[in-house]
Amino acid sequence: MTLNRNDCLARDTADPLAPLRDQFALPEGVIYLDGNSLGAQPKAAAQRAREVILGEWGTGLIRSWNDADWFTLPRRLGDALAPWIGAGAGEVVVTDTTSINLFKVLAAALHAQRQVSPQRKIIVSERSNFPTDLYIAQGLAHLLDDGYALRLIDTPEDLPGALGDDVAIVMLTHVNYRSGAMYDMTARTEEIHASGALAIWDLCHSAGAVPVDLNGANADYAVGCTYKYLNGGPGSPAFVWVNKRHQDTFRQPLSGWWGHRTPFAMQPEYTPDNGIGRYLCGTQPMVSLSLVQCGLDIFAQTTMDALRAKSLALTDLFIELVESRCAAFPLTLVTPRDHAVRGSQVSFEHPEGFAVIQALIARGIIGDYREPHIMRFGFTPLYTSFADVWDSVEALRDVLATKGWDKPEFHRRGAVT
Ligand SMILES: *Cc1c(COP(=O)(O)O)cnc(C)c1O
Repeated sequence: MTLNRNDCLARDTADPLAPLRDQFALPEGVIYLDGNSLGAQPKAAAQRAREVILGEWGTGLIRSWNDADWFTLPRRLGDALAPWIGAGAGEVVVTDTTSINLFKVLAAALHAQRQVSPQRKIIVSERSNFPTDLYIAQGLAHLLDDGYALRLIDTPEDLPGALGDDVAIVMLTHVNYRSGAMYDMTARTEEIHASGALAIWDLCHSAGAVPVDLNGANADYAVGCTYKYLNGGPGSPAFVWVNKRHQDTFRQPLSGWWGHRTPFAMQPEYTPDNGIGRYLCGTQPMVSLSLVQCGLDIFAQTTMDALRAKSLALTDLFIELVESRCAAFPLTLVTPRDHAVRGSQVSFEHPEGFAVIQALIARGIIGDYREPHIMRFGFTPLYTSFADVWDSVEALRDVLATKGWDKPEFHRRGAVT
């Protein structure tokens, strides 16, 4: 039976998550399929920003470090985020950026390995990983100047062959930013540990998007951002998780005063805090950090089971409609069909992918483009409806059928693609 728009509207009526969309400030006439890059704005964020700027900063001034509990905010947000990634209280802090947090945990993991297996000098990662992850590993290897090097696999299936007694760390992104393919974290972590290496997981495209169980998987370290599926706001601070068994074994190298055991004793000697606190570095951007709670408050009204069920229903529907209604065009599905290895986005390759995405954006359908030829569509169950999926596919079909993408302005590239 072929689906129509009314079927999609009926699914929205039956969707228990549909009311949550009202808590986001989405512009009229826009279908937002880019929550995997920058999450939409929780309506509460504007009010919260007013409170922080006018009240906590404007009136409270320096008193707010205590009175508004600014100083403990990285830990409080970490505790609120923890259940969404299978972590416990005292295991996560929200701070700095994903790139910076990755530097900290890579250094910590390399140090831990040096104590037991100094011959392990290889960091295994994936060639298609988000580049900053690879750049940070390269930068740390360069800084240590002691034979450390990256070994890149081309597909997840290549992982076993890349392991060995020279490998210190495996650093993988759980859900690939381009393809939307997801690793089996538990099975892979077990395999990594069996080879004697430590496992670092990047959760940028997982946190708030798919079920994650860091403790269940017995992972070692994890990082991720809050501005994608968690809707924390542009550039909102990232998070870092360290398994309890590693927390006190190493002082991470960015040993700033916020990670000191008694920061206000103003001692000349650095003494790391016990626990996850030592993964902090320095003063945090309080306005931006405060808004992270607004996204988490919306998550607190639902469950990962409900989000995952709707996410898979949305991505299934999108794949089915694109394949049935845009069958005449050269579109290749890049994202796995198998639910077990699919994140919360769908990517299609098209030779003119860049221009097609620009033409869709001009019509208010906001997805994005990643080299080479990949059109990415993120599905955020908190605010994407089944009718949005229908309307997006109809717009795509029309852009392809009319060659609406073939205009000079849709081939022009800005600084950010
Ligand atoms: C988005 C993303 C990042 C971003 O890192 P920043 O330090 O916030 O710029 C890093 N890694 C992955 C896998 C990402 O998807």
